Amino acid sequence: MAKEIGRRDFVKNMALTGAALAGAAALGGCSQSSASDSSSIKWDEETDVLVIGSGFAGCAAAIEAALAGAQVKVLEKMDITGGNSRICGGAMAVAESPLQEKEGIQDSPELLVEDMLKAGLGLNHVEKVRMIAEKSLETLQWTMDVLKVEWSDQMMWPGGHSVMRTYRAANNSGSGILEPALAKLKELGVPVETNMKMARIICDENRRVQGVEAIDRYKFSSDSGSGSRYIKARKAVVLAGGGFGANVALRTTQDPRLTEAIDCTNHPGCTGDALLEALKIDALPVHLSWIQLGPWASPDEKGFGLTPFFSTLEGAQWGIMVDPSTGKRIINEMGDRKQKSDAILATGHAAVMFVDSVGIQTVQEGVVDKILNKTMWEFDSLDELASHFEIPADALKQEVARYNSFVANGEDLDFHKQTIKMATLIEKPPFYAVRLWPKVHHCMGGVMTDLECKVMDFNLEIIKGLYAAGEIAGGTHGACRVGSCAILDSLVCGRVAGQNAAQEDAWA
Ligand SMILES: Cc1cc2nc3c(=O)[nH]c(=O)nc-3n(C[C@H](O)[C@H](O)[C@H](O)COP(=O)(O)OP(=O)(O)OC[C@H]3O[C@@H](n4cnc5c(N)ncnc54)[C@H](O)[C@@H]3O)c2cc1C
Repeated sequence: MAKEIGRRDFVKNMALTGAALAGAAALGGCSQSSASDSSSIKWDEETDVLVIGSGFAGCAAAIEAALAGAQVKVLEKMDITGGNSRICGGAMAVAESPLQEKEGIQDSPELLVEDMLKAGLGLNHVEKVRMIAEKSLETLQWTMDVLKVEWSDQMMWPGGHSVMRTYRAANNSGSGILEPALAKLKELGVPVETNMKMARIICDENRRVQGVEAIDRYKFSSDSGSGSRYIKARKAVVLAGGGFGANVALRTTQDPRLTEAIDCTNHPGCTGDALLEALKIDALPVHLSWIQLGPWASPDEKGFGLTPFFSTLEGAQWGIMVDPSTGKRIINEMGDRKQKSDAILATGHAAVMFVDSVGIQTVQEGVVDKILNKTMWEFDSLDELASHFEIPADALKQEVARYNSFVANGEDLDFHKQTIKMATLIEKPPFYAVRLWPKVHHCMGGVMTDLECKVMDFNLEIIKGLYAAGEIAGGTHGACRVGSCAILDSLVCGRVAGQNAAQEDAWA
């Protein structure tokens, strides 16, 4: 008989303390020693593979499991599918791609691994990084052959990569990958149920995951327990619930600096409740306190906004970023996110990034019109720019002259901008400037998984019947995720999880 082992309550927008989080694993779940409650379960429905979350990792897992012949269902707690995947930039790193070949760019999975380890300060789980890098090309091909994703024929070069290798969805949005994935699920007959939240993972007495308790967002009443549904997963549950960047209470237990005073780029459901349920059944947490800040965000708009469509790529490549109190550059503008965020935070105030009238022409059509006089300002001279942001004008002009000499000589003697040879002089007015202040963007931490994307417990053994992929799985990116590597991670690991989940023995 199935046993109900675990806490009955579920975490909503928890006001968790650090102690509560640390103790979460001891509160029950699949650990035999800590079984706190047991009663028989009457399953309301069954499927082979149950996927929690409808972002890239969840969709990839569900598609692969269905293609392998499993009966699959996806639960999504929000009323809209896709989580961060829907709202993201749709940029994916690929090594040894056809576009690189066309452009004559030398790359390899090993070089991608090197870049990820460098940004991650070597904390990355190397074998997982290698798997992702080695599967990047086949994953790109899969998105085209199976999902029918349309990619732009122009690559981009986010900071932290040593060569240009990033593909972008033709519509410049994660929706350009997500919608085809959802269409594929529809074609395969996989139901995606929205407003249905996984509230608890249920194991049997042998510590094997059996299924979940799910809660209808609109019907749930904690007093009566109504709206609660028990769904059995005959083969496996795949956790693809994303990160926890939008949960201030939770993120401050891991990094107390990330209070509500720091804005966030994530979708509102990015609260980590699926992660916490996994911890309650003894899933091993890794790197939870490594939470990434996006250094290209503007304090003059909420959330991710539109400014990053300038500052992530074009502003960084064709412009410079200075500390307004000194007029000096503070970092390699093409550095990784941690280097740049740390440098801005160290000054204690927003940085100023600007390009000239040549650099501004490289920005995607429509972006400048939308942000001008909101988060971006135009100036006829460097003196005007300096006066607006209260930058010492002479120091600023000297710094621009110094940077221009680096451009002319093809070598950045101060910060070693890797793309300096492609840069142009900053000299032709008008100049266009934005303010930048980091925002919470990505959780590098999550549950520990092996190379088959099976979740591991405190004994470093796998939790049978449980997989995790995407941002909920930790360790891959170490201290800092390089731009455009999360989509790759989510799709690669989602596929691996789905393929393996479908091969699990079904149990009665
Ligand atoms: C603004 C923005 C731009 C980005 N741009 C890029 C980019 O261009 N390239 C790149 O590589 N990365 C980018 N990223 C990061 C990337 O988008 C994410 O890391 C990736 O999409 C995560 O995918 P996922 O499937 O793990 O999670 P998500 O896409 O967040 O999906 C998780 C889903 O699970 C649901 N869920 C959570 N808990 C439960 C539960 N208990 N029950 C049921 N459902 C649940 C959530 O509501 C959500 O819909 C960006 C992120 C943001 C925020």
